[in-house]
Amino acid sequence: MGKISQLLHFVDRYRRTSLVRERHANESMVVCHTCRLHHTDNEQGVFEFCTRHKYHSLQIVPLFEVRAQEGWSLAIPQHANNMIAGYGGNASIKEAFGTATAFTKTNANIATSATAGWKSNAIDNTSNLYLDASVMAYLAAVNTPPANNKAIYLFAFSLIEGTTYTSTGDGTIDGSEGTVTYPDVGTLPVVAPILDVIYYPVQNKVLNSKASSVAARFDGVLPPKWCIGMVNYSGMTLSVTNIFYIEKYLTVA
Ligand SMILES: [Zn+2]
Repeated sequence: MGKISQLLHFVDRYRRTSLVRERHANESMVVCHTCRLHHTDNEQGVFEFCTRHKYHSLQIVPLFEVRAQEGWSLAIPQHANNMIAGYGGNASIKEAFGTATAFTKTNANIATSATAGWKSNAIDNTSNLYLDASVMAYLAAVNTPPANNKAIYLFAFSLIEGTTYTSTGDGTIDGSEGTVTYPDVGTLPVVAPILDVIYYPVQNKVLNSKASSVAARFDGVLPPKWCIGMVNYSGMTLSVTNIFYIEKYLTVA
């Protein structure tokens, strides 16, 4: 073998043995075996993926650089390629919403009172399995001056078994729309958690509450069945336009 061909042979061997360069410092692939998804990104992107897949079965795979036809590019190791066969790629988890639905409001136009309140029909989540629901109340303008506590109190009630919803502390919540007695909201605590407080500062104005998360009232979990209630201690008699709820779930896109 002449010197030039020896050199070419050496270069060729060097090229072949150096097809794989060092482990890449900044980029990794992370695999969620729970969701069967993989995601390749820089450290920040991988960290965000891990945050979205909290408590899932996660595996981080360092990537290698390989010599392609032109320059170097990142590659997934062969063992990892086999591992993610059939897994979805590079996904983001996004919010998704159902359709806004109005509660029955037959008995919702309650007079101002610290105890005489309202309870809603129950929402059954046992087959839909939504993760949360937001509630918004739309109250029409009433030309009566604010008085009493100048506030309307919304409460949330949960059911995980049988027919026993969260207590008010006085009247019983049964999942059907109607009126119900609460402990005096001016002086006593109510057992059920507050969903929202709608203040009534100025008379003859439409009042739209904020969207309030039901799951947030139950430590982040939307119960199998749930409903809401209301005490109006604002000084006016309510004119309820609607009380809507919209359910939330997650989607992979
Ligand atoms: Zn996951």
